[in-house]
Amino acid sequence: MVAEHFWYCMGVRGDWKAFCQMLCLTREPAKNEVCWICHATKGNDGNLDLAYTNTECRWKGTEYQSLPWDHPDPVLTELAGFDIRMAHPDLLHCWHLGVGRDLLGAALKVLIKSQYFPGRTHKQRLAAATSSLKRFVKNHKLSFSKKKLSKPMMNWTSHEFPELRTKGADTFAIGMWLAHLVETNPPAGLNDLSTALWTSNNVLTILARNKTFFLSDQERHQVNVLGRLFIDTYIRLAHQAILSGERLYRTRPKFHLVQHVFLSERSLNYQRYATWVDEDANKKLMKINRSTHRRTAAKRVLERWLVGVPTRLAKLRS
Ligand SMILES: [Zn+2]
Repeated sequence: MVAEHFWYCMGVRGDWKAFCQMLCLTREPAKNEVCWICHATKGNDGNLDLAYTNTECRWKGTEYQSLPWDHPDPVLTELAGFDIRMAHPDLLHCWHLGVGRDLLGAALKVLIKSQYFPGRTHKQRLAAATSSLKRFVKNHKLSFSKKKLSKPMMNWTSHEFPELRTKGADTFAIGMWLAHLVETNPPAGLNDLSTALWTSNNVLTILARNKTFFLSDQERHQVNVLGRLFIDTYIRLAHQAILSGERLYRTRPKFHLVQHVFLSERSLNYQRYATWVDEDANKKLMKINRSTHRRTAAKRVLERWLVGVPTRLAKLRS
């Protein structure tokens, strides 16, 4: 219980480096490994490849098989009830600040180039897209912190992968808007893109609508089916982009963490465990971490956190 609450309050960022930094862990990943949950690699290892998704994939069988640290065990493991399976990817960092940005940045670039939005020039189409987005955001009581959609905002240059430079809430709003557009007015010849937008948005919607920490069996099944369809489609889009010499649909290690979330056989609602409002706490805890001796930093962070537990529990009970 205590350990679980700790994870809920701390959250875990999406990548190995930050994970180790936050918990003062010492183990470096093996040369080709990309994941702190399983033994997935960058490739060249047959089906341990991080992008490999069929049912034979070996990395799924290696989840939580080894601990992501060397001896001695971090002080965190001394918490009553601690289990390494309490650590899982943070949906905010792996989707809204990760793969979601890659998908939606690429989607906007493709849709604008294909004249999905009206206008003779890219500038005019961006303006039309901005108007459409703002209407959608207003009608659905969402937020969008930018003044307009622009090429710099999606990292749109000829030599770079497009990627939204947005906050997590903006990524969420743009994802909902684009999924709505392609469902009501499908873009010609872009079936895979429409599928990727629609399936990913539906997974996020199922997680968001469930207000508890656990999904029902039916919800988990829907997440798995839609999630697998998204992953297969995104890999196909990325593969096609490589074949046509375009820099679109980047696949990076966070994409593998999204696979852990979307294909998870556990009933956790990752939306509820994401670090939406815990970033400020993380910053404070990292400050304590930096200002204390490396040997005792993890213990001091934990002690400071424990000081706040009674207040937190009282709030939850009230
Ligand atoms: Zn993994």
